[in-house]
Amino acid sequence: MLAKKTDINLEHERLSSLINSMADGVIALSEDIKVVMYNGAALNILDINSGMIGARIEDVFKLVDANGQQVDTKNLIKNTKVSTSSRDYRLQYPDSSFINLYVSIAPVHLGYGKNGDKGYVVLLRDITREKSLEEERNEFISVVSHELRTPIAIAEGNVGNAMYVAEKVSGIDSIKSAIKQAHDQIIYLSDMINDLSTLSRAERGTLQVDVEPINVHELIQTLQKSYADQAQKKGLDMHIQLDPSLELLNSSKLYVKEILQNFVTNAIKYTEKGSVTVGARPVDHGVEFFVSDTGIGINRADQERVWDKFFRSEDYRTRQNNGTGLGLYVTAKLARLVHADVSLKSELNKGSTFTISIPNLQPVPDPHK
Ligand code: ADP
Repeated sequence: MLAKKTDINLEHERLSSLINSMADGVIALSEDIKVVMYNGAALNILDINSGMIGARIEDVFKLVDANGQQVDTKNLIKNTKVSTSSRDYRLQYPDSSFINLYVSIAPVHLGYGKNGDKGYVVLLRDITREKSLEEERNEFISVVSHELRTPIAIAEGNVGNAMYVAEKVSGIDSIKSAIKQAHDQIIYLSDMINDLSTLSRAERGTLQVDVEPINVHELIQTLQKSYADQAQKKGLDMHIQLDPSLELLNSSKLYVKEILQNFVTNAIKYTEKGSVTVGARPVDHGVEFFVSDTGIGINRADQERVWDKFFRSEDYRTRQNNGTGLGLYVTAKLARLVHADVSLKSELNKGSTFTISIPNLQPVPDPHK
């Protein structure tokens, strides 16, 4: 019996020195969200000198969310059914100063075996420095992309005019080709600036979702019209597949359009022969759109990475086209804003289909009306 107790003590000591050597704050909570265990790093992060055993979590720390709203910490933890984490919380100290926190919450068995007490483990990490670097980088991207817009637009206009004039003169083929190349590069820069600027707005959380009724037929037909020329220049057919029973979709027209435009641009860019098809059909609570192509396709390993920031496939056929690797990253961000699910099916050398299922959203009432 004595030996057993010593074993348990030893194990307890081991566990306690283990969690005390962690750089992250760890707090174990009982089922009724009271502190049962914590480490030194948690005291440091929370700036508390006294013991916390038995304390209610809402008395121990106060969290503020990305919109500056006070978070009901107790409920947040109580409603956590599977392990979750967030980098968007801030911890507010009594003197109103704050730090940015990475918070991970996991429901656990605190005791042994099936009958062990249930509870939660909360992990806290101070990410103020990382966050401020992130914010500075976003600020930099936002300012730079804003400042580059005007000179690029002027250059595009002038080179576009020169191209138009040069087309009418014979015998200056090398000049025409030089101007065309310059024009292509300016268009590429301008697309990149657009991506960067949407990206920085998305990352700062300043993108607003204006919900309005969208006529899906009209949206897709307009899309087809604006890309028909580009597709035709590459010898590609462009088809539309619209379910006749489609009704209006309540969502952000701006973002839905931008998402589809990104899919269609890629489909045309990464298809050498065949066709691009854009379609839509009604699904439960919304509309499912798809853009499919008969292009170069995406290998399995790359399929998992196409949504990553700056990812571009190493495939030489991808590299023959200009690109920033930001389009699908921005698309995924916009999709999240409108609560949509995106998916991809692709086979190398056969083609790809990008699908997005967009739910109907409640229109946000205009406070000025
Ligand atoms: P990019 O500016 O490179 O087109 P995206 O973020 O739009 O950036 O796409 C990321 C990568 O995903 C592309 O570089 C390409 O490798 C791959 N990809 C996207 N769409 C397609 C497609 N329709 N067919 C083949 N590959 C694609």
